Amino acid sequence: MDCLFCKIVNGEIPSKKVYEDDSVYAFYDIAPMAPVHVLIVPKEHIASVNEVTAENSAVISHIYEVAAKLAKELGIADDGYRVVTNCGANAGQTVFHLHFHVLGGTKLKVEMC
Ligand code: 5GP
Ligand code: ZN
Repeated sequence: MDCLFCKIVNGEIPSKKVYEDDSVYAFYDIAPMAPVHVLIVPKEHIASVNEVTAENSAVISHIYEVAAKLAKELGIADDGYRVVTNCGANAGQTVFHLHFHVLGGTKLKVEMC
């Protein structure tokens, strides 16, 4: 499958890895929008939130566990951070492999749209 994040997960395209286990992979965003900007992705190809089902949704709660762990390790847990996923054109999704942005290290803008 010609998917950028599948290629990052399987090592075909290099990335700055932050964390990896059996079901998820986390790496630094190539164009950070905050001092700390990490992406957490399921290893399984799920295109977006639109593709989340009862069969594959366990990885989503696991991603939030990993987000909490990484936020502590990266030193942004106490001051606060944002976990966000864009779905589809109106949200500006550019890579169609589900990913959760973890953004922190500064006071983030409040605007959501
Ligand atoms: P989206 O706009 O789909 O929510 O987020 C895609 C994110 O992937 C963007 O923040 C973008 O900077 C990041 N990205 C795109 N290509 C690469 C890449 O090759 N490597 C890494 N590490 N991040 C990428
Ligand atoms: Zn993929």
